Amino acid sequence: MSVRNAIRFTHPLLPPLDKLQNTLKDVWQEAWLTNRGRQHDLLEVALKGELRCKNISLFCNGTMALLLGLRALRLQGEVITTPFTFPATVHAIQWAGLTPVFCDIDHKTLGLDPRRLEEAITENTSAILGLHAFGIPCDVEGLEAIARKHSLKLIFDAAHAFGTEINRSPIGNYGDMTMFSFHATKLFHTAEGGALTYRDENLTSELRLLQNFGILKEDRVTLPGLNGKMNEIQAALGLCVLEVLQEEVKKRESIAALYLSKLSETPGITCVRPGPGVTSSHQYFPIRIDSKARHSRDEIFHRMQEKEIHARRYFHPLCSRADCYSDLASASPGNLPEASIAAQEILCLPYHGALSEMDVDRVCSMLTA
Ligand SMILES: *Cc1c(COP(=O)(O)O)cnc(C)c1O
Repeated sequence: MSVRNAIRFTHPLLPPLDKLQNTLKDVWQEAWLTNRGRQHDLLEVALKGELRCKNISLFCNGTMALLLGLRALRLQGEVITTPFTFPATVHAIQWAGLTPVFCDIDHKTLGLDPRRLEEAITENTSAILGLHAFGIPCDVEGLEAIARKHSLKLIFDAAHAFGTEINRSPIGNYGDMTMFSFHATKLFHTAEGGALTYRDENLTSELRLLQNFGILKEDRVTLPGLNGKMNEIQAALGLCVLEVLQEEVKKRESIAALYLSKLSETPGITCVRPGPGVTSSHQYFPIRIDSKARHSRDEIFHRMQEKEIHARRYFHPLCSRADCYSDLASASPGNLPEASIAAQEILCLPYHGALSEMDVDRVCSMLTA
């Protein structure tokens, strides 16, 4: 089958080129390309409104945001996290000089299971880093209760959860800190980019130091900071993407409705949806293919590949299976039964506004046949 008939897994949201050109004209006029320019500050204000958060800092990418956020919280020792995530979550812990400890997830939320969390806490634990997998919130209240009880910091990777709300409460306002990724594959993006939202406003100055080489003023460097700044081109693109975001969300809503109606009666296939009161981030459309299905997840995935229908087996293999983490005691599959099942059963279907109804039909026919 020709590439023309390929169905892409994702498609970056591209604002009208002339809009971007107009914004870039302003950047050229200012002749200021990075280090907190006008576009950066405009995007910061816009995102504060969009995410309804008190404090926000922008970064060159989400991974750097998370790494510097962990540093700003001055954590030590062990950080409990989920194996069912993108490697960046765990890498950030490692790069911050901390030890990742894997804890199993909950079958429904696909996030850290509060019932399994306490057994992972030791005297060296300083924080919990959870993921809102596919934009589905983890049990934020359950995790907050345990963090409070043991005086641990609570951080969330919300790379998939831009715009998610729980009973109208924005996702970035749970825990101590939340990371958002603005990578091109994310619904809202700046090509590459990221942000942190956080409860303690005193962190703002620390994060600024950490993202700009630790330079406090011209003649004073106070800490070994990195280069984590968002530049003006990224911010300009982000401002233009914000303008077309709602249109894309509407398209994704109708695609989700098509998938839901076409797949509702298929034995062994469940659409994984956020619970009641949760606003979806429309980042991914995950389904679970269990043992009652006619074919296994991997069989379906490979048959789709042959037809150039590009789905993704997120998050297979689990981060605990990575060469750099598989020796950790907490990485043993016996410790992570639900995560291991999820990694075998979940398939994310193509999901973006450029899909036609015919595309959706073609995807579904691979699942229902
Ligand atoms: C995309 C993603 C990241 C990394 O973000 P970047 O902006 O690409 O650095 C981290 N965690 C998860 C779960 C992601 O999906």
